[in-house]
Amino acid sequence: MNPPAVNNPVLLTTDRKMPKTIAIIGAGTIGPDIGYYLKSALADLTLVLIDINAEALDKARARIHAYVNKGLKRGKLSPAQAEAVRQNLITSTDYADLKDCDWVLEAATENLELKKKIFTLIEQHIRPDAIITSNTSSLPAAWLFSHLDHPERATVTHFFAPAFQNPVVEVIDWAGAEPALIAHLRRFFAVTGKVPMVTRDVVCFMLDRIFDNWCNEAALLLDIASPAEIDSVAMELVHAGPFFVLDFAHGNPIIVETNSVQAAEEGDHYTPAAIFNDTDKWNSNPPGTPCDVAPEVAQVIRDRLLGILFSQSVDILDRKIGSPADLDLGCRLAFAFRKGPLAMMAEFGEAEVNRILKKFADYKAGMPQPKKPLSGYLNFYRSIVVDDVDGCKVITLRRPEAMNALHDQMTDEILAVITEFDHDPAVAGFVITGYGVQAFCAGADIGKFPAMLGNRQQSIDYAKRCSRLLVHLDTCPKPVVAALNGLALGGGLELAMRCHALVAVRSAWLQFPEITLGIVPGIGAMVIPYRRWPKAAATFNRMLTRAEKLTAVEAHDIGMIAEIVDRPQDLIAAAVRQVTAAHGTNHVITGKPVSIAAFEPGDLTAVSGQRLSREIITIIEGAVTAAARASSLDQALEIGYNAFGDSACTKAAREGISAFQARRQPDFSTSG
Ligand code: NAD
Repeated sequence: MNPPAVNNPVLLTTDRKMPKTIAIIGAGTIGPDIGYYLKSALADLTLVLIDINAEALDKARARIHAYVNKGLKRGKLSPAQAEAVRQNLITSTDYADLKDCDWVLEAATENLELKKKIFTLIEQHIRPDAIITSNTSSLPAAWLFSHLDHPERATVTHFFAPAFQNPVVEVIDWAGAEPALIAHLRRFFAVTGKVPMVTRDVVCFMLDRIFDNWCNEAALLLDIASPAEIDSVAMELVHAGPFFVLDFAHGNPIIVETNSVQAAEEGDHYTPAAIFNDTDKWNSNPPGTPCDVAPEVAQVIRDRLLGILFSQSVDILDRKIGSPADLDLGCRLAFAFRKGPLAMMAEFGEAEVNRILKKFADYKAGMPQPKKPLSGYLNFYRSIVVDDVDGCKVITLRRPEAMNALHDQMTDEILAVITEFDHDPAVAGFVITGYGVQAFCAGADIGKFPAMLGNRQQSIDYAKRCSRLLVHLDTCPKPVVAALNGLALGGGLELAMRCHALVAVRSAWLQFPEITLGIVPGIGAMVIPYRRWPKAAATFNRMLTRAEKLTAVEAHDIGMIAEIVDRPQDLIAAAVRQVTAAHGTNHVITGKPVSIAAFEPGDLTAVSGQRLSREIITIIEGAVTAAARASSLDQALEIGYNAFGDSACTKAAREGISAFQARRQPDFSTSG
């Protein structure tokens, strides 16, 4: 497999329409969960659930209804959405009901011969243009589909439990599949809220090499510790320990199957632990409740769990089974590892990683070892992906777990791409967009800020450090265009406003929520919009002091957004048009004082109804007014940084940040 030519799947073009009818074969543990995701994502979808077991179908329908009721109760689904999920849900034991399907997704028992028979049967019943995918955990697509009349329309799409929540889906790029099929599936998953990861067609693909072997190693450790003890040590690295997850996902039989397949293909060192064959449940302790483990036992557990993790990671990269960025992100998103294995290896350093790997190889001969120095595995972008579109570098912010929020590493990566190419004659300019269809960027991670509360100078320095990318954009010789694929909040909006032009999808919206946290947006929000679109100053005043939202259409009306598109797939073309239009022009944010509308007296309430801090509003009003009068951009920005420092020293900031961390509403009535 070559690395995908397109890294942001929303950029892929495909002739296939969105599916109207999808069938799932297998209504056991994961089939109904995949069905619930599909029904929630596609309002008009007809879902056909097929199983040989009528009781499984009844339970599957009941499970989907229970999810709907829970979604309604928690306000995650509107009554209309709930009704749409309940409707057009067909259960059947008859494969003839596949006749109208656009896509048949198989999630039956993990067994090669059974699955091959199922695919033969499916092919007899479906339309020539329908596609087939399997949710197998381990069986290569070439084994599953090569016997079909039309294998080119089939591949593996591998979900992770719980499939309606877990965003990761591996899409297997195998030799027999039409490239258009892989493109269609990647795009489909990305626009329905998933994070597709392309992997090679080898047994267990990419992520189950990590998970299944991690669980298997945990079971092999039962000689020296209990499930609860092993899970407790594992929880240093992962949110929930392997035994807890195995119980949750009914995973024991799957580990037996997948590790047997891996052992048969790659060697006995992958053989599943015998205990899986006669154990149903482990009854370990849930996440967040570790037990005491003797230090010498904990050390053995830690070393062996890390040994399997590192060994599998280097093997995945050496054999190009998946990309390093997907490996780390996949482990965090699919299995809730606190850090990706490569991030852990970077943190531990070469000597410690080699100690762990050598000890592991001594205990278990045959396990893969690194083929190059550690640094050879760590050279990749973690938080962005980069694509080439019509001579532009399209930089996609990719932190789906945090709605693409900025942090230091992401800022440095964007800056690295821009500085690498901003004098390259082959590059026309840059587009910055967000991964998926929900968020451009939800702001900046709160990061180290809580530790700086009360320290004005440290906070000012922090704001300046956070501005390094934005300040570079001011003088970047090539156009940089923000393509808002969804919401742009706080620091994300400050980044977008600093780009030389903005385009957006119609559904995008913009907001500065900082005032609701008792702080001010200090890296340009109180300066840049007033200097670029001074006639809309009254709008910015309300955005800053009331957290008023601005729709993309409103932002277009005030001249901030150059072009609005209706469909996500048209966004980057619009951004590239802006790069072309701006080519050769000099982007300058005026240094001259600007005349702006005065602040209207407010009633200390945000548009959401939340009470706000008088003190912070006063800081914003003072900074905006002074920055507008400043006679250079640098001076104006300095006023913004200082105001951020001032806000960090207020009681309101302390209250707002601690409320945010405790997930409660702040109370500014006493803090002022
Ligand atoms: P399961 O044993 O819980 O359910 C399998 C279902 O398939 C059963 O209801 C069974 O009656 C049905 N079935 C068997 N033969 C059938 C046939 N010929 N036609 C129609 N239905 C048939 O299995 P599961 O855990 O839901 O796993 C299903 C697939 O998904 C497996 O390939 C597994 O490796 C994969 N997978 C599971 C998980 C998970 O968390 N459970 C995660 C990722 C992948």
